[in-house]
Amino acid sequence: MDAVERELFVRAQHAPPDQVSDPSAEGLAEVSAAIVECRLCPRLVAWREQVADDKRAAYRDEDYWGRPVPGFGDPSARLVVVGLAPGAHGANRTGRMFTGDRSGDWLFRSLHRAGFAALPDSVSRDDGQRMSDAWITAPVRCAPPDNKPTTGERDNCATWFDAELDLLDQVAVYVCLGRYGYLALWRYLQRRMETLPRPRPSFGHGDEVELPDGALLLMSYHPSQQNTFTGRLTAQMLDAVFARARTAIELWR
Ligand code: SF4
Repeated sequence: MDAVERELFVRAQHAPPDQVSDPSAEGLAEVSAAIVECRLCPRLVAWREQVADDKRAAYRDEDYWGRPVPGFGDPSARLVVVGLAPGAHGANRTGRMFTGDRSGDWLFRSLHRAGFAALPDSVSRDDGQRMSDAWITAPVRCAPPDNKPTTGERDNCATWFDAELDLLDQVAVYVCLGRYGYLALWRYLQRRMETLPRPRPSFGHGDEVELPDGALLLMSYHPSQQNTFTGRLTAQMLDAVFARARTAIELWR
């Protein structure tokens, strides 16, 4: 049992039994509480805190989160959205996945148009945003320099990725935003399923894979500024992915 697993175990042992009404919601709350305390990767701990101290000029009056960012959404979600890692001045500032930067603007507007997010914008943890039937997660929870976690950091954080995904027990559709998220999800699925397609399908925007349990994996370009500024990913393209997700969910079981 490594340090992260031990922390989860200890917290689970101390969960008050009379508060356990929804096992998924309670479990996810436990995992989230453990994630935000994690300091397993020295380079990322130093970076996330340095960014939070230095701040971007536009946000100099704000208190940065500067900690790991847990998943966000509906514990009963049938849609899971997989990104890469928190943005330095986005989720690392606000403490909510895909919140406070341009990538998040694109994602939440599209989720809202598809009926998965109550509001078109996600700007802070107390803005009233609510997810409906969707959960947003990422394989790395601390903002990495240049958006590039090392392999070791990714592997450290897989404990949290697995813990969240294991608790989301009604998933019908995964949407992977970018190749990094797709590969991370595929590794998770390999750890959980014996009969995945071989070889692993290559990543392509709009491509999809039917998984052995009947769930659908959809691929999309990441709504990074690099992709949206250049027109590689348009709002219509992202909307089409979530429209496909909506259709697949309605047909699920
Ligand atoms: S990246 Fe993940 S494992 Fe590493 S310190 Fe952050 S939360 Fe912990």
